[in-house]
Amino acid sequence: MAKDSAHTHPKQDDRKVSLEAAKAIIKAQIKNEWTKQWADETTGRKVWNALKEPASASSDAWWRLKRMEQTIISKLRTGHCPTNSYLHLMGKMGTSLCRHCERDTETIEHLSVCPHLFEARELFMQNQAGPVLYGTEEQLRMTANFFNYALNE
Ligand SMILES: [Zn+2]
Repeated sequence: MAKDSAHTHPKQDDRKVSLEAAKAIIKAQIKNEWTKQWADETTGRKVWNALKEPASASSDAWWRLKRMEQTIISKLRTGHCPTNSYLHLMGKMGTSLCRHCERDTETIEHLSVCPHLFEARELFMQNQAGPVLYGTEEQLRMTANFFNYALNE
């Protein structure tokens, strides 16, 4: 019952608005509801920590990346990245050790500092201190290219 009354729409008035204004009001309301639901969710909290509102091409450079780059950045953001530790956990890989140094567990964090990837980090990420998952188009592109290399070599 309480839930029903919460969903009762406010009384409409007779003021006339243009179609454009009506569209803008509806769009803002949808965004509001989406943002509220997203905040109340329990899943996807890793992404939520960095992205509290629906992203648009202007607010998240991810939208301007190429398909391959979007794919890898999404995997990095959600933590569902085909590192050996992840694949091992899924039962799809015999070892969780790093494919490059074969010494440490292969995680995103490890690949970001693995001594065997020093040159690749310089080549793909230049002066960037580490992977950037939420940043400029250029930062995301460098991160995507580095991990595309690190996870496929
Ligand atoms: Zn390593």
